[in-house]
Amino acid sequence: MRIKESKNKMYLRYRNKYIEKSRKWRLNPINREHQREYLKKWKLENQEKVKNLNKEWREANKEKRHQNKIEWYKKNRTKAIFQSVEWNKKHQSKRYLINKRHLQIRIEGNFSDLEWQEMKKAHNYMCAICKRQEPEIKLTLDHIIPVSKKGTHIKENIQPLCKSCNSRKGNRY
Ligand SMILES: [Zn+2]
Repeated sequence: MRIKESKNKMYLRYRNKYIEKSRKWRLNPINREHQREYLKKWKLENQEKVKNLNKEWREANKEKRHQNKIEWYKKNRTKAIFQSVEWNKKHQSKRYLINKRHLQIRIEGNFSDLEWQEMKKAHNYMCAICKRQEPEIKLTLDHIIPVSKKGTHIKENIQPLCKSCNSRKGNRY
């Protein structure tokens, strides 16, 4: 009985020491940096695993995440609107694809936002029809062969048009 007691004491002492030690270890910025580096490397080497883990986590916390999102939107309405406007400005190509996907329209090609920025620059920020320039007009993405006529979302089928030329052109090509 006595021996057992002292063993328990020993264990507790050891345990407390150990906890204290590991707490100190974690608090040390150098070790934290090491941990971060290690995790980063591990993530890079296990991309597929990380992807699956993230997916699992998202699935498991779906309700909670949705609820959090709603709460955030309620509290940050103006910020949210501003953010989405800014995002849309930067990602016109992606926005276009997302809109189409929402309408359940399948569209081939993956013209990127970066390519769109480059295209506008190459066109000197000029509408291909009326030749007016940004910022006088706002350039929009036009599909030379309309998507509704099996046009694709690739570089060769895209040109920058101002809003009014784009809507005047409509479904023709
Ligand atoms: Zn125009």
